Amino acid sequence: MAGVATGSGGLPSNTSFVLVRQALRESQSQSRTSASRETIRCPHCRLNQFITSTHRCRRCHHSVDPEPVFAPPPRQPLIPRAVCPIFHNIDLALPPILLWMRLRSGLSQRQLAIQSGVNRINISMMENGSRMPTAETLDRLARGMGTNAGRIMLAVEYLMNS
Ligand SMILES: [Zn+2]
Repeated sequence: MAGVATGSGGLPSNTSFVLVRQALRESQSQSRTSASRETIRCPHCRLNQFITSTHRCRRCHHSVDPEPVFAPPPRQPLIPRAVCPIFHNIDLALPPILLWMRLRSGLSQRQLAIQSGVNRINISMMENGSRMPTAETLDRLARGMGTNAGRIMLAVEYLMNS
């Protein structure tokens, strides 16, 4: 049978290749027509439209496929770890906040060390997360940056809930 004959190397002959290509084209055009009957509202520009083969909006050219929805993490109250053992993200949130607040105050680590009386190496370790400040140290750092510990913890809470 010509339709399924294979060449000497086991590859499909020209005839069967043509048949395969034809079948492929038919299945593609079928899926295209069935897809084009579906209408969808573009999540970006809200245009109601038939789905194109590329799944892109006819007007704004963004993908019309729904974007994956990520559930926001549950809100956690800001309680020190000593009080609430499940409260652990502060280790990750505090260092960048300390760094950010120092940079915002325009101080170098050395300048903050002088203003707060906290050792510069300690400041560096707290900013890179290798050491956590005590409440007293946090208070001194905050004062050195012209703020207070409450404002730092507010920023930490904001970061943890964002
Ligand atoms: Zn659009």
